[in-house]
Amino acid sequence: MRETPFARALVIGDPIDHSLSPTLHNAGYRALELQFCMEKRRITPENLPALFSEMRALRETPTRILGLAITMPLKVAALNLVDRLEEAASAIGAINTVYLSPAGELVGTNTDWLGIKRPIESKRNLSGAQVAILGAGGAALAAMHACVTGGGHVTLFNRNRDKALPICKKWGAVYQSFEALTQNVAEFDIIINATPVGMVEQKPDPSSPSSPSFDTLPLHSGQLVFETIYSPLRTPLVIHAESRGCTVIRGDEMFLEQALAQFTLHTGLTAPRLVMANALREALASPQG
Ligand code: NAP
Repeated sequence: MRETPFARALVIGDPIDHSLSPTLHNAGYRALELQFCMEKRRITPENLPALFSEMRALRETPTRILGLAITMPLKVAALNLVDRLEEAASAIGAINTVYLSPAGELVGTNTDWLGIKRPIESKRNLSGAQVAILGAGGAALAAMHACVTGGGHVTLFNRNRDKALPICKKWGAVYQSFEALTQNVAEFDIIINATPVGMVEQKPDPSSPSSPSFDTLPLHSGQLVFETIYSPLRTPLVIHAESRGCTVIRGDEMFLEQALAQFTLHTGLTAPRLVMANALREALASPQG
């Protein structure tokens, strides 16, 4: 084993039991023979400041907390607790990662947008693309940052217009309701589902036009469909888009990419992609995944 001190990373949120982050990160640490460990910790917005105090108290010690992976509902609350924010995080307005810089600062950043940008750019150029983003929450804002900084032209579709309009204004995007999506979807090069519609527990309500169903959209080959959901792996949108001949990127690719970027920030080392991808595949294939 390499001579490295025992240090921990934490994945935090509420609930947190379901998180697959430790599976990926710990597989990566083992592969690089690092004496690090990622642990889950249930943290509510109320006890988040105490965690940051703990991180500051431990940061000079061998048992320091080398970083955080942050999930719901803490991605916005954690913004104000870091020593420094990276540009992407302040543009998106949410952080999913904290890392300890060599100078001992707690730096907040966001790797979710890389989890969207990198898989898209492995398939096609974002520059000049017409992009439809479905949703206006944290994942949609990460998608917005990825697409706008990549040179895409974005139309945002969301149920709640009042939430979507200021976002569109800030990013120079166009707002449309879900009622317009069926008519207009053929015009888009890239369609990104950043809503939970398609998760097992999130059934669409066919009686409400504001509660969309994405598995009947008139998609066509040549379009790239990006699903952010990874549980289930094959959502109704993924199955439908494949049947229409679209190129499909699934939520597990996003999850892997954001985790690889996070691993590098936490450790300063290149993440072992294959090992972490295999760990994710096995976890998602298991009954608990
Ligand atoms: P969020 O901040 O709560 O935002 C959810 C968005 O979806 C909101 O704009 C909401 O619309 C919309 N929405 C919710 N239920 C809807 C429904 N029944 N019909 C239409 N719109 C609905 O959530 P988030 O953090 O952005 O997460 C969104 C999705 O991204 C989740 O499925 C999550 O699993 C996925 N995600 C994946 C990864 C990954 O690594 N693969 C990472 C992050 C998130 P309103 O504004 O109208 O309420």
